[in-house]
Amino acid sequence: MNVAKTITSLEKSLSEITPDYTKILVPTMGSLHAGHLALIDEAKRTSGGKGFVILSLFVNPTQFNQADDLKHYPRSLEMDLKLCKEHGVDLVFAPESDIIYQADHSVTVSESELSKRLCGATRPGHFDGVCTIVLKLFNLTRADIAIFGKKDYQQLAIIRRMTRDLNIPIQIRGVETIRETSGLALSSRNKRLSEQQHSDAQRIRRGMLAAQTTYLQGTTSADKLISVTQNIIESSELGLKIDYLELLDRESLQPIKSLSSPAVMAVAVSYGAVRLIDNIELP
Ligand code: AMP
Repeated sequence: MNVAKTITSLEKSLSEITPDYTKILVPTMGSLHAGHLALIDEAKRTSGGKGFVILSLFVNPTQFNQADDLKHYPRSLEMDLKLCKEHGVDLVFAPESDIIYQADHSVTVSESELSKRLCGATRPGHFDGVCTIVLKLFNLTRADIAIFGKKDYQQLAIIRRMTRDLNIPIQIRGVETIRETSGLALSSRNKRLSEQQHSDAQRIRRGMLAAQTTYLQGTTSADKLISVTQNIIESSELGLKIDYLELLDRESLQPIKSLSSPAVMAVAVSYGAVRLIDNIELP
């Protein structure tokens, strides 16, 4: 496995790949867990014997709208490299920020529709940062395929939209969310929860599964389904706050009133400074 920390070393590794190989990019911010590993495994499966898996490890400063969140974002480079090696990654790209951003950089990619709601509403500028770094990684690696998790549902929808609208020659794949046995979606931010909060956070998944059951029993009203989930999440006694809880059309991410076509319920909650997101596709 090669590790590139500069653009020159990245270019060198890429130049050694024979043209009949498919390049598959897995963008991450590191602190790898089983969710990220599922993306790597999907990349390995996708490529068959003729694939070259590139994993980027970069805590992208431009997508953090709170300095404190960036400062506390977990970092574990040595362990990440070990996991990448074990899972058959061919090349890790782990640059420092000054390698990626020129001091006077002044161009940003901005998606203006899907990013208005959900995380875009509570984290101004977040998706501009995401789109910009993702496009830079697409350009730097010239990957054929890029793999993202459905855990970050809005992010995946925005990247698909960016790829479509800017005619970027890359195929985007989404992978199902990997969860703890309790149902809590794996996230690098889970490490910042206390033991009590960690166990309390199970109610996020429980709340969404209850909405699914209610739907399967015949309820289609978005308000009713949302209130089923909301009641379960808000019965927390640990100061769990709902940032948003919405039922949306899966592609446009516009709120729906009644569940009649493919939809997604998306939620963001916070325990103090720790913010968790999750979603469930319905029906
Ligand atoms: P991050 O390092 O949090 O930016 O995530 C990198 C990629 O891993 C993104 O495409 C995420 O959607 C994906 N990811 C994060 N957590 C999970 C999870 N629990 N299951 C599946 N994919 C995930």
